[in-house]
Amino acid sequence: MDQSTAPAQIEFRNVTKLYGHVAAVQHLSLTVRRGEFLTILGPSGSGKTTALMLLAGFVAPNEGDIVISGNSVAAVPSYRRDQGIVFQSYALFPHLTVGRNLEFPLEMRGMKAAERATRVDRMLERVHLQELGGRMPSQLSGGQQQRVALARALIADPPLLLLDEPLGALDRNLREQMQGEMKRLHREFGITTVCVTHDQEEALTLSDRIVVMRAGRIEQTDTPEALYDKPATSFVANFMGEANILENPGFKVEFDVAPPADTVAMIRPERICVATPAAPKRADADQRQSITGTVDDMIYAGPLRKYRVRVGSSMLIVREQVAAGQPIFRPGAEVSLDWLRSDVRFVVA
Ligand code: ADP
Ligand code: MG
Repeated sequence: MDQSTAPAQIEFRNVTKLYGHVAAVQHLSLTVRRGEFLTILGPSGSGKTTALMLLAGFVAPNEGDIVISGNSVAAVPSYRRDQGIVFQSYALFPHLTVGRNLEFPLEMRGMKAAERATRVDRMLERVHLQELGGRMPSQLSGGQQQRVALARALIADPPLLLLDEPLGALDRNLREQMQGEMKRLHREFGITTVCVTHDQEEALTLSDRIVVMRAGRIEQTDTPEALYDKPATSFVANFMGEANILENPGFKVEFDVAPPADTVAMIRPERICVATPAAPKRADADQRQSITGTVDDMIYAGPLRKYRVRVGSSMLIVREQVAAGQPIFRPGAEVSLDWLRSDVRFVVA
């Protein structure tokens, strides 16, 4: 389904949550569409978990309202809200087998034993844990426990799945594998999902849209592509990867269009090309800005090289794909840098 035209399932309407004098969430307005995978991304303390707890009904807003499928849920306690939840610590019941863990939400809903058993078997299959129904949680790996937690959240077919740093406890390889798994499950179940993470790569991988939060407020809401390519602020530019913020760079930045008021120029490291100063001009040189600089540092990272190049009073980060015949520049080397003027972005400082 194309989510951009799907109906709204969740609306935060000007929601504020205070803890004493700390506004954990301030004037949050946000719409989540049916079937969407929306991620709330931000550094630690930015209010992500609070936003999710508000949605789950574990904390109440001081101001504003939350509307789910057209109805205000302000007065609905969390146990009456139809939602599956997965937290960073999986919180499986340690004294119950995997199968019994999955059965629990169905039992709570008063489902008959025979139907519960069928559902549990089917779900174990869908998350590729057929063999493990009889195990205790302590006999599972971290990734397996995480999959059981996801399965338990999904088993009662809730219209809404809430995830708080669901892969935070896993090591890198397993995290990537589980990201693929979660994407697959989201595709298969089509369930509206709100996920919270501080990991930008995870957010980019999983999400239809991302909400970037900073100090309790939304900084920008957009698709992963747009957040990376057209960040609205220097905070978002830096949070969604590496950025060269050209604020008083010590050289003149060329533009095709006049920069909007109160913005600074920004260019992504992979948009800058590095070459020897003697290299012939490119065919599209008239669309490029070209400057010379001195290599300060080079880091080799598999298929990538990352340079730090001193230009004027700036240190520019340049990232290039290693291609056959491309020279390596050592610290101290004079180099020519160039980029398309149209690759320069303007961000609010
Ligand atoms: P995140 O999940 O993005 O790390 P949180 O939503 O947990 O952020 O916290 C946002 C802010 O609210 C932080 O400053 C945090 O210290 C504060 N906060 C969160 N929960 C509580 C609480 N129960 N009591 C007091 N302050 C809290
Ligand atoms: Mg948190």
